[in-house]
Amino acid sequence: MSSTPQMTGEAKPLCRRGLILVIASPSGAGKSTLSRLLLQADDQLTLSISVTTRPRRASEVDGMHYHFIDKRRFEALRERGELLEWAQVHGNFYGTPREPVETALATGRDYLFDIDVQGTLQVYQEMRSDVASVFILPPSIPELVERLRRRAEDDEITIRKRLASAADEISHWRDFDYVLVNDDLNRTFAGLQAILAAERLKRSRREPMIGLLADELTAELKKNKVD
Ligand code: ADP
Ligand code: 5GP
Repeated sequence: MSSTPQMTGEAKPLCRRGLILVIASPSGAGKSTLSRLLLQADDQLTLSISVTTRPRRASEVDGMHYHFIDKRRFEALRERGELLEWAQVHGNFYGTPREPVETALATGRDYLFDIDVQGTLQVYQEMRSDVASVFILPPSIPELVERLRRRAEDDEITIRKRLASAADEISHWRDFDYVLVNDDLNRTFAGLQAILAAERLKRSRREPMIGLLADELTAELKKNKVD
């Protein structure tokens, strides 16, 4: 039996359209931690850097964690349609720059979005088939409070604001493709990696390339009339 084009290296490399992995959660459930672990472990994944009007925290770097901008600039971006989605969260504005995402998807790179529920629903409206969405739940409210306090990045008033929004955010869990309960960090991370691996293999994302390969395999089989 003759070898297929794949085996002889004649075929073009199999590639696919990139995907958007959205990770959302009530604040403190662990999505930044999980996002960081995933980005460290996976060099095909790029973090979408949002713009925000929120003041920079001491631990944050402009251009790495967010692009910190004022409200006037935010409004200008929004009015020019340069944000794929935007939302007001805990009194501040946040948005995802559109252009880098559209370029990445077309060239087969994957993007990680750390955004809230309102933003996720907007991205669905424009690009549902490109999105795999994951919602992270804390195992309990005392543990959520404990994590917010342990993080020690927000004052008590801010922590209360975040907790006040948590019930509304949690009520949207059915809007997500996957839901992970972040009790044990290693187990949740393994779940997240499994989701990403499976989403990358989805037929719909690899349709043109798999179609080509399937046609070539079929043609080869017909030519050689294998029993
Ligand atoms: P979010 O981005 O959802 O607001 P973070 O990732 O900042 O939350 O996590 C909040 C705090 O909880 C951090 O101090 C983080 O180290 C801790 N944390 C995250 N996941 C777990 C877990 N599974 N078990 C214990 N602590 C965790
Ligand atoms: P933080 O102020 O803790 O960095 O983020 C607060 C919330 O805003 C988090 O739920 C985070 O996911 C969300 N967020 C961050 N960037 C964006 C964005 O570009 N769009 C939307 N919709 N939410 C965002």
